[in-house]
Amino acid sequence: MTLSYQTLPQTWDVIVAGGGTAGAIAGIAAARAGARVLVVEALGSLGGTGTNAWVTPLMRNVSAGENLNRGLTDELKARMLARGDGAVDPGGNDNWFNPEGMKFVLEGMLLEAGGEVLYHTHIVQPVMAESENPPRIQALVIHNKGGLQALSAAVFIDATGDADLATRAGVPFHAGDEDGIHQAMSLRFTLAGVDTARLCAFLNSNGQGQTGENFLHFWMVWGKNSTLEPLFRQAVADDVLLERDGDYFQGFSIPGRPGEISFNCPRIRAELHDGADPWQLSAAQVDGREAIDRLTAFCRQYLPGCEAVFIGVVAPMVGVRESRRIVGEYMLTLADILDCARFPDVICRNHYPVDIHSVKGGAKLLHERDGTAPYFAKDAYHEIPYRSIVPVGVSNLLVPGRAASSSFEAQSAIRVQQNCHSMGEAAGTAAGWAARKHGGRVRDIDMDALQTELRRLGGNV
Ligand SMILES: Cc1cc2nc3c(=O)[nH]c(=O)nc-3n(C[C@H](O)[C@H](O)[C@H](O)COP(=O)(O)OP(=O)(O)OC[C@H]3O[C@@H](n4cnc5c(N)ncnc54)[C@H](O)[C@@H]3O)c2cc1C
Repeated sequence: MTLSYQTLPQTWDVIVAGGGTAGAIAGIAAARAGARVLVVEALGSLGGTGTNAWVTPLMRNVSAGENLNRGLTDELKARMLARGDGAVDPGGNDNWFNPEGMKFVLEGMLLEAGGEVLYHTHIVQPVMAESENPPRIQALVIHNKGGLQALSAAVFIDATGDADLATRAGVPFHAGDEDGIHQAMSLRFTLAGVDTARLCAFLNSNGQGQTGENFLHFWMVWGKNSTLEPLFRQAVADDVLLERDGDYFQGFSIPGRPGEISFNCPRIRAELHDGADPWQLSAAQVDGREAIDRLTAFCRQYLPGCEAVFIGVVAPMVGVRESRRIVGEYMLTLADILDCARFPDVICRNHYPVDIHSVKGGAKLLHERDGTAPYFAKDAYHEIPYRSIVPVGVSNLLVPGRAASSSFEAQSAIRVQQNCHSMGEAAGTAAGWAARKHGGRVRDIDMDALQTELRRLGGNV
């Protein structure tokens, strides 16, 4: 395809495509490593799925009592705690956060580090130096109100979550399970105007034991012995809900937003499962909004404390759990998880299990080998190697986050936010070094030096 575009005169050391969960952190890390950084983001704020798909809280990733993701994740949590947008519950879980607050914190951290951001801009197409082996991305054509422009950098990080840049640069990829079917998408929302004291009392009396009205967590999935199932049955019988509205229902408190509950639902109807297909994504937005109306009516009529609720937020982004996964120098597999694989080029450690929200029926947690694999020990973890974020066939590109090189099952475990942070931190640091010391070549990074630096920054590798 031949595009007519304007090439901007300035150049950057590192351009991050997508300022989401991994990308914002990658931008901060690269800037702190001394690189001149630009983060290009389609929306008007940083944080991606965590903030704009309203995915709160951070999923716990603990082994032997220690959080496996540290470094910039710790700093992010501390900053959110300080401004009342984070919280630690009575059980010591520090993963609760307010997505709107996180947008402010991430932007502040990027700008403080000297990074730049270009919002409301879509990536279009890389310009490749094809004669080099492997080919190098010379520039990235973007589109925004200024039309088509090409931005140059020594190193690129594809943190779009969908591997938009990598796949357009010719990197091969996998998508979905063995049948090409993806995990379910969800459109998250909040309800405000909740009488949390009454809701908490009801949930406690209902058997959904709560630690307090500021840390509510409740759920219902058909057939999983939720104490809320009879209410859902009644609501389906009363034509308030559709049967599929009970495929996954979950609510959480949000720090700094009293009287508001964030919902990890509705799940989008099964035929719409491909988050990299713009037509499906658009239809998912419509489908999700219709379901949000039904769920709001359900909460008002059936949940004590929710009689006067109104919709607070409908997430600007449809929540996509899995779309494209690059083919990298190493592909993480289910066996790696179950065997607690260790790698000499480790950049992240994970204990979060395989967690497939299948459109083929229900949520599937890890049950392989009947729970007898080494992975199931409380102090177990597996590692993610640097090679999983290095795509084959391009010299100056890294792909951290949910599109990293992994099988369908392995991706469902490593995709949670704190792992995306850790992959982003490693990618940003490595990209900064590659740009400044190695002519952009991401394979030339000294692994011992990178791991030493990540540990110096507080990382757990
Ligand atoms: C419904 C749902 C529930 C989840 N629940 C949890 C949970 O409870 N806890 C947890 O820790 N994790 C959870 N996850 C997983 C986790 O949130 C995601 O896997 C993770 O946030 C993905 O991070 P990422 O950086 O790979 O992508 P994203 O955070 O999605 O970042 C991608 C960024 O790139 C931008 N972008 C995309 N394409 C372009 C383009 N072409 N041009 C410019 N910009 C672009 C996007 O706007 C976005 O900002 C959940 C995910 C979903 C969808």
